Amino acid sequence: MSMTGLRASGSTVDAVRKILILLPLSSRLTVAPPHRNRPMDIQNLLDDIVGTIKPRLGQGEVANYIPKLGSVDPGQFGISVATGDGEVFAAGDAAVPFSIQSISKVFALALVLAGDGDGIWKRVFREPSGNPFNSLVQLEHEDGIPRNPFINAGALVVTDRLLSVTGNASGAVLDLLRQESGNTGIDVDPVVADSESQNSNRNASLAHFLASCGNLENPVQDVLDNYILQCSLEMSCTDLALASRFLASNGLRVDGSALLSSAQTKRINAVMLTCGTYDAAGEFAYRVGLPGKSGVGGGIIAVVPNNCTVCVWSPGLGKPATPSRALPRWTSSLPGRGSQSSDQARAGMQFRHRSGISCRSF
Ligand code: GLN
Repeated sequence: MSMTGLRASGSTVDAVRKILILLPLSSRLTVAPPHRNRPMDIQNLLDDIVGTIKPRLGQGEVANYIPKLGSVDPGQFGISVATGDGEVFAAGDAAVPFSIQSISKVFALALVLAGDGDGIWKRVFREPSGNPFNSLVQLEHEDGIPRNPFINAGALVVTDRLLSVTGNASGAVLDLLRQESGNTGIDVDPVVADSESQNSNRNASLAHFLASCGNLENPVQDVLDNYILQCSLEMSCTDLALASRFLASNGLRVDGSALLSSAQTKRINAVMLTCGTYDAAGEFAYRVGLPGKSGVGGGIIAVVPNNCTVCVWSPGLGKPATPSRALPRWTSSLPGRGSQSSDQARAGMQFRHRSGISCRSF
């Protein structure tokens, strides 16, 4: 598999979308609908999603440009939903730890905004790139200012700043993830980290170019090492759904303290919506309509503001040769999806209308 053009599989996107249809009917709304589903309904939905999708897994390809990721079984699929008050619903392989990869970029950005304010936006834009996550071309055209904090170039700048602010960027990300998920066992997978270090020429190119433009404060190797460690963290769907809750809770941490202001949280969610899935961001926004962040380990987190977070993991990724068509094709290949998807879309739109969950929520 080429190292460019990797994207979340249709199955992960499809699962997040199905959740979106049901969640507004759950009990975690700012504006409660008249008929609330019982928690069991959410569990039934998750089980149903796993039952529908699992037999069809294996069509995507695992990301083998990081060799350790290439050995992951693509037949796995997990899904977790965490509500603002810490209730968790999970199905499939939701407890299996996987490599969070670029999902880590959200937490690094949150820590920089929390600890250092808006200065980062002088060094990174907030525009969708329309390019693969590890593209080099745009960076030179735009004088070393990355398009957004979620493509690799932008994430390297964020990690660089976090390193300046904390002295240990990957450690700061790890601490946050452990505290917010409540899982003190979360750690780096050393084999993935080593595998990624041995295959980091492209990220090293980006980092050296950033440095040549004066957009790194720390030595290239230190920034790369921290970036690789944060990407190599291993977490389960449930860990990630729990750890992301501050994005659905106006920036409030699990202990009730504020990591971010409500305005900062909305801004991260806005950048996730527009840039979180790289050159598939338009498709993800069209189909799911939620802030989301993917990683080449096959995970996606999505945020339903003031409601809950969702994490889906499916290590088989969409095919690079069919970038924007892969997702709808996958969806329409599922049995019964033709009518089901239009029903779901209609239900989702109706529900959003009635519940107040819409773009204004983030
Ligand atoms: N660590 C990966 C890389 O830098 C992260 C990419 C991703 O998950 N999109 O290539």
